[in-house]
Order: sequence, then structure tokens, then C-alpha cells
Amino acid sequence: LWDQCVKQLKGELTSAEFNTWILPLQARVDGGLLRLLAPNRFVLDWTQKHYERRLIELCAQFSDGSVCHIAFEVGGLDRERVTVAGHSRYEPPAPAPDMGERRASANLNADFTFDTFVEGKSNQLARAASMQIGQNPGTAYNPLFIYGGVGLGKTHLMHAVGNVILASNPSARVVYLHSERFVAEMIKALQHNRIDEFKKTYRSVNALLIDDVQFFAGKERSQEEFFHTFNALFESRQQIVLSSDRFPKEVVGLEERLRSRFGWGLTVSIDPPDLETSVAILHCKATQIGIELPEDVAFFVGRRIRSNIRELEGALRRLVANSQFTGKPITLEFAKHALKDVLAAQDKQVSIENIQKTVAEYFKLRTSDLLSAKRSRSLARPRQIAMTLAKELTKHSLPEIGNAFGGRDHTTVLHATRKIKSLRDSDAGIEEDYKNLLRILTS
Ligand code: ADP
Ligand code: MG
Repeated sequence: LWDQCVKQLKGELTSAEFNTWILPLQARVDGGLLRLLAPNRFVLDWTQKHYERRLIELCAQFSDGSVCHIAFEVGGLDRERVTVAGHSRYEPPAPAPDMGERRASANLNADFTFDTFVEGKSNQLARAASMQIGQNPGTAYNPLFIYGGVGLGKTHLMHAVGNVILASNPSARVVYLHSERFVAEMIKALQHNRIDEFKKTYRSVNALLIDDVQFFAGKERSQEEFFHTFNALFESRQQIVLSSDRFPKEVVGLEERLRSRFGWGLTVSIDPPDLETSVAILHCKATQIGIELPEDVAFFVGRRIRSNIRELEGALRRLVANSQFTGKPITLEFAKHALKDVLAAQDKQVSIENIQKTVAEYFKLRTSDLLSAKRSRSLARPRQIAMTLAKELTKHSLPEIGNAFGGRDHTTVLHATRKIKSLRDSDAGIEEDYKNLLRILTS
């Protein structure tokens, strides 16, 4: 396995990079884990920071998914291991309150677990990383940063991590909090002169899960407070899990020192589900409600609602409610009728997410690449096309569109629309791509 990874990386990196960082590593497969031994701390930090993500991808690929975790350690196969990277231990178990109470005080939802999270290509890495964190909080990756569009399962995964940690450690202190709630709590603490208590509370947890950190944007006092909380937890090797609608470096309105810290650990994306995953999720949710969903109905709904799992669930709930109300079974005909309004509304207004997903698929890119800061031509053109389509097909303003494309400026969107307009006149290939996409999105 490692030899295959090495061979692949040799082709991808410059020989200096390869010789400096990859060649000195020794590897050993340990169950589903690839242990990488680096000769010293410096090589360890560097390779982990720069190549971990790619290495995990390669491992998963070459092992057909059976090895998808990597542990970095300092040491060598032939020598005694010198030190082991990161190991933290929880305090000895105190008499544990019951699970329900502990979950409630951690703000965790018992329904959001790994068992109820359907795995697909779009969420594989994020799920694997989250499981790893759940099993080894504080020692695997810190922080874990999950990013992706609305309704794709970020919150679900964070709760799943929290639930696993709680279940396996009777004395672990876990807190899940939406970033807006963090801000609100902090303000309340300030008003009531309880800021020290606030600090103490959050700096003494074993796992802090903060959702939607993009809402910290522009809130400087909260960022300051969170910065210190982050440092305290990071230094004592307690687990931090963060989520956002975009890549850490692209969260606008965030102090640079936070942005860079957010990228210190492992960053994973969740992309919109493919059709098979959507169908599997529908079946899973149907089973949870206690109904059986015919295959043709699942495919019909999955095909029509593609870019948001929350909406997928909404459609299912509507079907079930309608069926219970009318006493009719859920057939394809029934579904088409019951969802008519939902689908019509959806068809009329193409969403920006839908456009991004369609354009990404069309050009065989990842949606996250379209939102990233990367500027290579192979990304820039599709991105400009997607922005132009968003301007054409939705009612969103230029700043809104810019924001939806990784927090870009409205002038960037304006420039994109102009560029594409002139290219469509001069470049038949672009014109054809544009027309094709327009047809796909509006048919
Ligand atoms: P986000 O936080 O990314 O906006 P959520 O985690 O709130 O999205 O997910 C929206 C809904 O979709 C939730 O009810 C969640 O349970 C469901 N969901 C998302 N991904 C999956 C999945 N892979 N399997 C099952 N349900 C999922
Ligand atoms: Mg969420």
C-alpha cells in the first residue's frame, strides 16, 4: 500500500519535495490505520500539514477504502519509537449521570449518530475523519474542520462525533454549540459579569464542537474570546471540531490568526450527494419513520431534489403526511401529485447551489473547487460560467452571488459576467458549454 502511495506521489510532487518529505517516511499498516513514522518532529509536522489529506485519499484509493486513517508519529521501524505524537487522557471516571442528561448538557441530539448517517462518495472522507475523532478525541486531528453547503450533513456529523465521545467516555465533557449561540452566551456573560465563568466553562471541556463558524464574521470580541478558548484547548490536546459553509482560508470577516488555526488540523469537505446516496438517505429516513418507500418513488424524489438533504427529508415528510391524511399508499403517481408544488417551486427558481453543482459535474470538478480561492484556468472559467448562470437564472444580487462563491467580491462577479459574455461571442466552445448548461438547468 505504502509503495503505491509513494509511487503516485513521486509523480505528483517535485523531486525536492518528494525527497525531503516523503522519502524519509517509514510506514506500517495497522488494521485500518496507516502509521507513518517520521525521523523528527519537523518532518512530521510538515508532512502532516501539507500531505495528510492527499495521503488519506491515496490510502483509501489503493486499499479500496479499507485503510482511510493515518497516524503520524516520530520514530523509525528499526529503532525504538522515540515519542508518540499526541496522547491525551480523560480524568478518571467520576460517578456518571445518565446518558440522557449528559447528552442534554452537551446540547447533543441523540438522533444524529453515525448509524443514521448514510455514507456516500460525497461525504466519505468527512465521515471517516469524524469517526476517527470520535474514537480518538484530541489525538488524531486537531481541529477537525468540516465544510460544505447547506443541508449536507455537517451538523449531523458533529453531533455524531459528540455522541461517540460521550458514549465511550463516561467522564468526558463535550459541548456542542452553534457559533451564534457562543456569541450570545458570551454577551450574556459579559452583561452579568460572569465572563470568567464563561471562559472557564469552555476552556475546560474535552471536546468543543462549534458549528457554522462563518457566523463569527465581523464579531471581533467573540473572535478574540474564541481564539483564547481555541488555544487553551489545542494546547491541552482537547478536541476541537468546527464546521463552516466554506474552506477555512475563505471565511471572510475572520481574523487571520483564527483562519490559519482553523486549518491546522484536518480539513474535509462534504459535497452534494450523488443520486445513489440521495436514494439511500431517503430509504434510511423512511425506515426511521417506519414506512417503506417504493424504489421508483425514492429515485423520483432523489433525482428531482439534488442539492440539499434537508429538502430531501422535507419532501419525504410531506409524502408521509399526505399519505396518512388521505389514506392512500405512496406510489409514484401519488408522489408526483403530492410534491407538485414543491417541485414546481424548485424548478422555477434554480438555486445557486444547484448551479454550482451542475457546473461542477459538467466540467468534472468538485463543487468545493469552484468555491475555493484557486485561480488556475481550468477552475476560473467554469467558475465564471457558474457565476454568470447564477446572475441569469436567479434573483440574487451580485454581492449575494459573490458571497455564495466562497465570499468573493461583487466586482469579481461583474467581471465574470462580462468576460463570459464576450467569450460566448468569440469562442464557440464556451458558447456551447454555456448553452448546454442553460438547458440542463432549465429543462
Ligand atoms: P448542515 O449542517 O450541513 O446544513 P445537517 O447536518 O443539518 O446539514 O443535515 C440536514 C439534514 O440532512 C439532517 O436532518 C441530517 O440528518 C440529514 N443528513 C445529512 N446528511 C446525511 C446523511 N449522509 N445520511 C443521513 N442523513 C443525512
Ligand atoms: Mg448545520
